[in-house]
Order: sequence, then structure tokens, then C-alpha cells
Amino acid sequence: MHPYPGRFFYMESAGQAGYMEDESLCVRCSRLEKTCCQRSEIYVTPGDVERIGEQLERFDFFEYRLPANADYADQDDDPAWQEYVFQADGTRRVLRRRPGGDCMMLGPHGCRLPWEVRPLVCRLYPYDYDERGIKPQLLHGCPVHLLKPGESLIAVLDMNIDAARRWHGQLYEEIRLETMANVDRLDLRPAC
Ligand code: SF4
Ligand code: SF4
Repeated sequence: MHPYPGRFFYMESAGQAGYMEDESLCVRCSRLEKTCCQRSEIYVTPGDVERIGEQLERFDFFEYRLPANADYADQDDDPAWQEYVFQADGTRRVLRRRPGGDCMMLGPHGCRLPWEVRPLVCRLYPYDYDERGIKPQLLHGCPVHLLKPGESLIAVLDMNIDAARRWHGQLYEEIRLETMANVDRLDLRPAC
């Protein structure tokens, strides 16, 4: 449902096909394809903004944008997401991206943010979820065709379902802070 929030390591050596020993799936992905960090719009909660802002000592890393994919605006199956994440003008708060689409937090060797500071949607990817919980099936976005025979996506990404459930709970708590976070948006105030 929440498309392609990214997670891992990025290596600038495109063009080599095939498997390399001891190479993680995310490195393989960055070598051969556009990663989730290069093609995603990353919603950030008010809590994410606070944590990332403290880390960077600046707050110019996000903006309010309409979803690039209009289907994303249709969140009928997740009323809380629809109610809290989207602003009155249909935008939501997302990380800025560079021309070409890379997330502005992406460095030459992966995400520049420590794990505990990364946006919650990034930490949860590629789990799919709604307010009720994490769904059994994963989002389609990781290149499962690059898995080696016998590998499972969740295992190679080293995902931990208990941590994911904790972040999921935190995410839905933090989206409810949106109503307080938006008091500063002068552009959404009714004209006097
Ligand atoms: S914040 Fe980090 S993990 Fe999330 S999309 Fe940006 S670079 Fe990737
Ligand atoms: S394998 Fe999946 S999580 Fe890793 S970089 Fe590629 S799309 Fe992102």
C-alpha cells in the first residue's frame, strides 16, 4: 500500500550482471536496477521530522507533495492513513528528492541516516500493512528475480517481524500527531 520506501546499501558500479559472492541483495539491486531509495516518495511522520531534524540540525529536508501515482491517494482500505496523512489539499509530507528521483538522504554507500532515525516507512519496507497490522504478503518492489536459488526475501533483508510490529504501532501513533503538526501550514488556513 505505501509504495517503495527504501532501506539499504547502494553501490555505484552499475552494469555488472550476475551474482557476486557475499553481495547483499540490496547491493545487487543497486548494481542492476533502480533501488527503492531512487524511485520512492517517502512520507515522514511528525516524529520522523523531529528525529531527522535533530540528526541533521536542519529542517529543510521535506516538502508537501501530491502523490506522483494517483492510485496512492486512494486509501479506502486504511481510513486512518486517509484521514491523518493527507492534507486538505491532497498533499502529504515527503522527503525531498534530487533531480532524477534519488532520495536526498541517499549517499554513495546507502542511506545516510542511522537506522533508528530513518523514516518509519523505510524501516518497515517491504512489509505491507494497514492500521490493523502487517499483512502476510510483502509489497512488490524488491527484485525477487535477483535472489539466489533458495533465498527468501525477508531472510536476506534481515527483517525482524517483532521490530516491524513495534514500528508499525509507532507509525500509526505518529500519524495521529499530524493534526497538531499542521497548524503551521499557513497555505491551508482558510482565507479571512
Ligand atoms: S530515507 Fe534512507 S532508506 Fe529511506 S528512501 Fe531515503 S535513502 Fe532510502
Ligand atoms: S532489494 Fe529491495 S530493499 Fe533492497 S534496495 Fe532493492 S528495492 Fe530496496
